[in-house]
Amino acid sequence: MPERARIAGWEPCSSCDWPGRLAAVLFLAGCPWRCAYCHNAHLQSASQPPGGWLALAERLAARTAFLDGVVVSGGEPLADPALPELLQALREMGFATGLHTGGAYPDRLQRALPWLDWVGLDIKTAFDDYHTVTGVPRSGEPVRRSLDILLTSGIEFECRTTLHPAWHDETALAALAAELAALGVKHYHWQTARLPKPWPAAPADWPGSLLLQQAERLFEAFSLRAA
Ligand code: SF4
Repeated sequence: MPERARIAGWEPCSSCDWPGRLAAVLFLAGCPWRCAYCHNAHLQSASQPPGGWLALAERLAARTAFLDGVVVSGGEPLADPALPELLQALREMGFATGLHTGGAYPDRLQRALPWLDWVGLDIKTAFDDYHTVTGVPRSGEPVRRSLDILLTSGIEFECRTTLHPAWHDETALAALAAELAALGVKHYHWQTARLPKPWPAAPADWPGSLLLQQAERLFEAFSLRAA
């Protein structure tokens, strides 16, 4: 029942959450991690009661003619056990379905795949260093499994890393890009983090052009997206 989903908000139309598609974005509450740069901290708690689907479905139904699809984001949308039912309901309405995930729940990702057309997987840092970003020990292990699932599934997906010099240096970024390319990732994108004070802004010329050119050569699609 999609009514069981914890829908915390939505954006009626976005051109940047699913590359090449015009999509509505639904935000589900709940996330097991506590990243320093989280811009959706109000979505981290899973204490919100289920609800919001019926009113939202009505508004989405009025947009089927001009939306290419719907992306489910968060928080961590796979933290909500009702996600597969929500995706199924969106498909039944005629929408293509996308998912933003940090990869914390590989088994749930595997079960959701039949209802998905595209996935954006966040790769926060080197898999062994995840705790430095998420605050949770060994949190890179499920992400590595999630990436394996996507690589073998045949589904269209991209990996994305939010960058800041406070926890990434250029040597580590080069190594991460090389590791992902060696694993078989074809589409990879970087985005500089916008952090609240007291964090300093990343320098305008960071990461450097040599590193960007080096990374660009490793993937079919690579970019540095504006924060
Ligand atoms: S995984 Fe995403 S939603 Fe969760 S704490 Fe990190 S940035 Fe915030």
